[in-house]
Order: sequence, then C-alpha cells, then structure tokens
Amino acid sequence: MRYLITTSIPYVNDDPHIGHLYEFVLADIFARYYRNLNKEVFFLSGTDENGIKIAKSAVEAGKNIKDFVDEKYNKFFELKDKFFLSFDHFIRTSSEEHKKAVYKFWQLCQEDIYLNNYSGYYCYSCEAYYDEKDIKDLICPLHKKKLEKIEEKNYFFKLTKYLDEIKNLIEQERIKIYPQEKKLEILNILKVGEIRDLSISRDSKRSYGWGIPVPRDSQQVIYVWFDALINYLSGLGFGSEDETIFKKFWNEGEIIHFIGKDIVKFHAIYWPAMLLSAKIKIPEKIVVHYFINIKGEKMSKTIGNVISPNDLLEKFQAEEIRAYLAHQTIFNDWDFNFQNLRDFKEGILKKEIGNLILRIFGLLKKAPLKINLNNNLLKEISSKIKRDFNFYINNNFEINLAYLIAFDLVKEINNFIDQKKIWNNLTDENLSTIIINLFEILNYYRPLMPQKIEEIIKKIEIDNNFYLNKEIDLSPLF
Ligand SMILES: [Zn+2]
Repeated sequence: MRYLITTSIPYVNDDPHIGHLYEFVLADIFARYYRNLNKEVFFLSGTDENGIKIAKSAVEAGKNIKDFVDEKYNKFFELKDKFFLSFDHFIRTSSEEHKKAVYKFWQLCQEDIYLNNYSGYYCYSCEAYYDEKDIKDLICPLHKKKLEKIEEKNYFFKLTKYLDEIKNLIEQERIKIYPQEKKLEILNILKVGEIRDLSISRDSKRSYGWGIPVPRDSQQVIYVWFDALINYLSGLGFGSEDETIFKKFWNEGEIIHFIGKDIVKFHAIYWPAMLLSAKIKIPEKIVVHYFINIKGEKMSKTIGNVISPNDLLEKFQAEEIRAYLAHQTIFNDWDFNFQNLRDFKEGILKKEIGNLILRIFGLLKKAPLKINLNNNLLKEISSKIKRDFNFYINNNFEINLAYLIAFDLVKEINNFIDQKKIWNNLTDENLSTIIINLFEILNYYRPLMPQKIEEIIKKIEIDNNFYLNKEIDLSPLF
C-alpha cells in the first residue's frame, strides 16, 4: 500500500500560529506511522500565496508583494526543521511549477468553464461573494466587515453538474470523511441544494496583478481557491515534464487529505468536482481536525490571544510539543494552555514513559551478558494493545485514543516488573519479555518523538535475536 498524505496549505497573509502547527504535526505523525509500517509514503505540504487578500495585506504594509510573500513563506517553512516535519515536498503556489500544473488542469476542465457577468457583494477576507438575501446590512457574517459591491465578468466552473455524483460518492464512502459528523454536514449542504456554479476568476486589477492569470485572458486572475486546491497535484509534479511521482502516489496510492474544520466544503465538494471534470482520480479520505481554543475562544488577532509555535519553543522541546499535540482530541475543539503542556511533559513523558525506560535500563545493567529474545510473557495483552492501537489509527484517525491505548502497555510493563519482582528474578524469560515490550513502546512513540526515540534505541544493542549487555547510561530522558 502506498500513501499520499497532505496538509492544507496555509494562507500566507499572516504568521503561523499553533493551529497551523497542529495540522502539520498530525499529518507528520501519520506519515511517520505508515513509514514505520514499511509503506511507501509521500508527504506533501506547502503555502497558499495567491489571492487578493495577500496582495492587499502587502500593499497595506507598504511592501512589495513578492517580498511580503517570501517573508511569510519562510516563517512557515522553517517549522519543518524546528518541529521534525518530514515533508517530501513543500509546494509554493506562486512558483512556476505550480502555475504549469494549474494551466494543465484548467485545460482539462475547459468544457466546464464559461464566462459570465457577475454582480454581488464581496468580502475580501473570505475572498467570496455573498447574495444580498444572505447578509444583513451588507456586512460579512464571518468577518463583520463591510462588503463591497462588485460587478465584473468572471469565469465560472460548472460545479452544479457534479453535485449528484459527489453526493453518491460521499454516501457510498468512496470519498470517506472523518469524523462522521462532517460527512453528514456535507451531505446536508448537498441536500439543501443551494450550491451554484463557482466563480473561478477575479478582475486582476483588484489583486494588483498578483495571482495566476487566466489562460488567454490577462484581465482576469484565477480565483485563489481554485488554484490552491491544485497544489495537491502540482506538488507531485503534475503538469511538469516528469509526472512519475504524481502517477505513483496520486493514481496508485491512497490519498489522505488532512484539513481543518472550516474548509470541508472546499475539499469535499469543490475539489472532487474539479477532479471529476478534469477526469483525474478523486481522493479516498478527508480527515477533518477541529480547532485549538484559548480560554474557550478562537485564536484571533483582534482578541490578541494568538500563540505562535515559537512561543512554545521558548519553554519546551519540539518533540515534547509534538507528543502533547498528538494526545489532544482530534475531533473536538480543545483548549490550549501552557500548564497542560507542562503537566503532560512532567507526567506522561517524564514520570511515566521516561521512568519506565530508565527502570528497564537499570535492570538491564544487572542482567546477564546475552539474553535470548524468544520469550514474551505479555504476548497476549501486548498483541491486543497493538490491534487496538492500529484500529484507532487506521480506521478512525483518532490518534488521541490510539495513544491512550499505547499508554496501557507502559502500565502493563510496570505491573509486570512489580509483580515478578524482576530485580530479584533476572531470568532470561523475564528480561526477554521486558526488552521485547520496550521495543513495542518505543515503536508507538517513535512517530511523535523521532529523534529522542532514535537516541534511546541506539543505547540498546541487539544482535540477531540476542540482546547484548553493555554499559547503558542512566541520564534522564526528558
Ligand atoms: Zn468575510
């Protein structure tokens, strides 16, 4: 089995916050989890760099648009090294490679694209039109900003042509949406039937010329969402001279899109419609994570409660933060605070997992020189834990529940050591059990803390089926 794992691409009109980090880390843990199972994985992320809002933000900040975008892109891209994100590629939508893919895609959808006059009320923050009947006092319901009346010609995409088919695909779970709640929400939107064709271009004057020009019509730039979604293809080399990766991972892999709960409609309705029109395979899975709140409120610049990944790094190590994020509920909003993170580090990481490993190391120091690893007295319970762990990850994407289960093994080994009084019974079968299960534990936590676990594994020497005793240093692990 081959997997394509993607994150949504953050819009670079602002700096990264911990919500962006959360999605990057989640997707990275899944990518590492599959790689650990020896599956072929391509992990794609990037930045969304077009759109009127970005051009406006740059102009308002008195900056050259390209410089503004580069500066923001760097802030997102540097998270890769800081947080051990194993992206195979990081696509920028202002790049040539992306533009080529967009043009190829546009060409493939040509039959479903038409020109029409448009008149409506526009929110620059949403980058979307509103109908007069859907708004009060010409104010955007999301941004509470005054809408601007716009009349222009736009290119439209025949979205309506594909809605029935998409409804079937979602119902039959050919496109599987996690959690169920989001699937039902999308089916409900489709049932209400108010979706119209999608305007997929904007007058280029409104974006100060920034964006991807419509083929053969330089007066128009392509609507940022239409172009951004195509990153999932351009990032694989679609539209370039060498489409090997695209064919290998898009056509012959299982596609898993990780996205936030505010953009489900774009991924579960617009994107499959675009792909159907272009006659390209549609994705298998869409995993929708929920949001991080601060004291019950959404992070926002206006409230001034935005926490950046760098704020966390001032107090914690990247891998501690990764592990903490994996333990939070994926399919519900949750509240971040520094105390919780500190408690997690001191409790689960240090006191439980760290101490168990040190405890085992302590026993191994006293163990015979060579231990044959052919006994696992905890085999039954440890296989059950493994089955459940894999079930929650593979079938449900409920990573937080999976790690609750993985933690059971930590408790089981501790109990085992106590009950058998291993320190007085350093037998081959007792020690073999401990070492085999220690490796299980390390395997579970490796996707969360890749470097730290690698360091721990290096301390333990295994030759074929034998543990070889050498001096293990007992310095604290966290
Ligand atoms: Zn708005």
